[in-house]
Amino acid sequence: MSEERAARTVAATNGVAQDTAFGAVISPIHLSTTFKFPAFEKPGPYDYSRLGNPTRDQLADTIAKLENGARAVMVSSGMAALELALSSLRPGDLLVAPHDCYGGTYRLLSMRAERGHYRVTFVDQSDEAALAAALAQKPRVVLIETPSNPLMRVVDIRRTTALAKAAGALAVVDNTFLSPALQQPIGLGADLVVHSTTKFLNGHSDVIGGAVVAADAAVGEELASWANTIGITGSPLDAYLTLRGVRTLFVRVEQQQRTAAAIAAFLEASPAVARVHYPGLASHPDHALAKAQQSGFGAMLSFELAGGLEAVRAFVGALRIFTLAESLGGVESLVAHPPTMTHAAMDPGARSTAGITDGLLRLSVGLEAEGDLLADLTHALDAVREN
Ligand SMILES: *Cc1c(COP(=O)(O)O)cnc(C)c1O
Repeated sequence: MSEERAARTVAATNGVAQDTAFGAVISPIHLSTTFKFPAFEKPGPYDYSRLGNPTRDQLADTIAKLENGARAVMVSSGMAALELALSSLRPGDLLVAPHDCYGGTYRLLSMRAERGHYRVTFVDQSDEAALAAALAQKPRVVLIETPSNPLMRVVDIRRTTALAKAAGALAVVDNTFLSPALQQPIGLGADLVVHSTTKFLNGHSDVIGGAVVAADAAVGEELASWANTIGITGSPLDAYLTLRGVRTLFVRVEQQQRTAAAIAAFLEASPAVARVHYPGLASHPDHALAKAQQSGFGAMLSFELAGGLEAVRAFVGALRIFTLAESLGGVESLVAHPPTMTHAAMDPGARSTAGITDGLLRLSVGLEAEGDLLADLTHALDAVREN
């Protein structure tokens, strides 16, 4: 059996048909906060749901298997997952982070640094000299996010994690944009993988959640214990819904990326569009790397309207199927304007260094018919021309 088929089977059926009470094929949800001790001084497998819960554990086990990790810890958001993954940092320690990371990540790291909790340096990790200079300062953690948000730049995970480890740093990869269906960073050298399960893993835009997957069991154990200590473990209801989403991860992502590829090609051919950022396009600077490192190009893309902010206003106002909203990875297509939405927390200087221009729009491609989405974009581009 190929590795991909095994992962597909795990996503669809891990934990199915294991109910010992009634033989339920789909595991019942366990909302109980507390669990009975079978006898005095004899705890059962669970005692209190902040620490451990059967529903949450079934999801964690499934995600750990999909990421080829030893253990996953489910937490209440992607931001909580990043906090947990970075919890080994002490005052004075240095964190190397991508200059074009998720806006919320940028805010978290900058505010932690401002408060003296650790130091952070944001670098373009595709720039070999800049990365080498940052690693020469002996960071304790290197955070990688690939493909990056919103410009879809691809960082070489194998190379960067090897350099990070040689410098004595822990290598953490945010795998939210591709999901384990299309990229498994642990096999490429990551110590920890972080997810906003809010996105592709849940896939239905109805749960905020996060996960940290550890390559090493002892590290995973420590993270699980710390997540319980600080009280960030996710709710059982959220875990139940997210596991239901994970069941269809592969079919969703495959269909969504097929449509995304068609949209990228369509936009690239439009004179109103200055640039399209999609790793599946031969014109993308990291196309070859994406092809080697990923098992697909994903369902996220961004593009720059030649007319800047005015064009953006006309375009977004004319869309009928794409909804103007933050977030990504759901069954419905979304459009976001990074400078005023997802990346508004970034200061304008950092934004322009990262290449996030006023005409930039990001698309999360959903499960609608390709023809309908292309018609929607055609109509919106017409509105830009008539504007
Ligand atoms: C959304 C997102 C996060 C934060 O996740 P939340 O679930 O919103 O807290 C972190 N990293 C990336 C790449 C994201 O897209």
